Amino acid sequence: MLKIYNSLTKQVEEIRPLQPGKVEMYTCGPTVYSYPTIGNWRTYVLSDLVLRALRIEGFEVDSVMNMTDVGHLTGDNLGDADTGEDRLEKAAAKEKKTAWGIAKYYGEDFVDSFGKLNLVKPLLFSKATDHIKEQIDLVQRIEKAGFAYRIADGIYFDVAEYEKKGNIYGKLSNLEEIKPGARVEINTEKRDQRDFALWKFSPAGAKRDMEWESPWGMGFPGWHIECSAMSMKYLGDQLDIHVGGEDLKSTHHPNEIAQSESVTGKKPFVRYWMHGAFLLVDGGRMGKSLGNAYTLHDIIEKGYSPMALRYYYLSAHYRKQMNFSWEGMEGVSNSYKKLKKEFLALRVEGGQDKNIFGNKAEVELSGREAFFRDEFVSAVEDDLNMSAALAVARTVLKDEKLNSFEKRRLVENFDKVFGLKLAERDEVPADIPAEVMEMVNKREEMRKTKQWAESDALRKEIEAKGYKISDFFDGVKVEKI
Ligand code: AMP
Ligand code: ZN
Repeated sequence: MLKIYNSLTKQVEEIRPLQPGKVEMYTCGPTVYSYPTIGNWRTYVLSDLVLRALRIEGFEVDSVMNMTDVGHLTGDNLGDADTGEDRLEKAAAKEKKTAWGIAKYYGEDFVDSFGKLNLVKPLLFSKATDHIKEQIDLVQRIEKAGFAYRIADGIYFDVAEYEKKGNIYGKLSNLEEIKPGARVEINTEKRDQRDFALWKFSPAGAKRDMEWESPWGMGFPGWHIECSAMSMKYLGDQLDIHVGGEDLKSTHHPNEIAQSESVTGKKPFVRYWMHGAFLLVDGGRMGKSLGNAYTLHDIIEKGYSPMALRYYYLSAHYRKQMNFSWEGMEGVSNSYKKLKKEFLALRVEGGQDKNIFGNKAEVELSGREAFFRDEFVSAVEDDLNMSAALAVARTVLKDEKLNSFEKRRLVENFDKVFGLKLAERDEVPADIPAEVMEMVNKREEMRKTKQWAESDALRKEIEAKGYKISDFFDGVKVEKI
């Protein structure tokens, strides 16, 4: 049985879904106003690992991920998600696009990068703007249940009233994290500083790119309501697992719980809450203003495979903060290449991808193989101890008693959880150093802007380092001379 740390009970628990054999899962997805950072991707990789681990345990997994394309205000950085500017409208003004254009561009980029990181696509990427009606309906239900009130700038959730009815607000967070004093701009009209917007009104006299009619007037949904509305629409009033980064534990997730449970009559909205620890850069906070909010594009431009980044994430436990540095990236990239090379050097006879796990296993394993499979499964089941699982794979590849067919069968199956594309030959030009790949990518950029002389000079430099490039209409091939 897969065991994970449940932030609600603050314990490591076995996942026992509501319906036998099927897990319903929701992940708080990106706000599509810029490229996701490698910090954001760490959280989505966590969600992917949970899904993959559940699959090898024999569960069917229904997963939904939202895309926030409206209503996420910049005040969130200061601890108040209801103040400041709309992140999408702000990006639109900066990039001279509409908010719709911004959401489309970054939404598509997100799905594309999702594939590059080999994340299993959810049943649905659900956009907030495609679910305005569901959000309005939910706010109306909350209003009818007596937990909403109106002030000048919107409709708010009444936390004190919710508590009066015997509910606990903020179960997931440490109480001090949601102290009203943490907020910078205090909205004095709110009955309680913990109250949060369900629906915000468009500012008087201003036309927003994204605004909708509602029973309360023209406006847009508060940031939290989309997750309750979409999760309840697709996964029902109760779901099994909800995943997000650790920052969401203090406000966003308590608010999701309050909104949902206020209308479903205290049925726990989510049974297992999972939170991934943050990724730091060079030991400190990652931030756009610090110039270190690296994206997957930066990783690729520097010549690293997205799979090497994935390997980086797997090397740290999801509940511990992880540090990213370019030296670290170089190190894990080499470890990844080594693992892949050893794996690909094994004899291929076919059929090694047949399932070896659980009661859906398709093949009988030898005693020694079964031993390693069980070691791997215990590591995964132990709150996703992926570095231990990777260590099992490395031990298997070095083992002197397993034959190469068995080694390949084991590791190819392990890769169903790792998602490292170990069996794909063309994913990584295995022995091209990152420095050379960086030059190759730079040359590609030059060719796009027709800097022919410069790109030829760079080709010569690359050749001098011992690598040959051939140009094709859809890309380049790099080989060792
Ligand atoms: P956002 O687009 O800011 O709403 O964030 C999307 C997801 O990424 C959320 O689950 C956040 O908790 C998570 N996240 C944000 N920053 C980091 C970080 N530095 N490391 C890990 N996860 C993060
Ligand atoms: Zn959410």
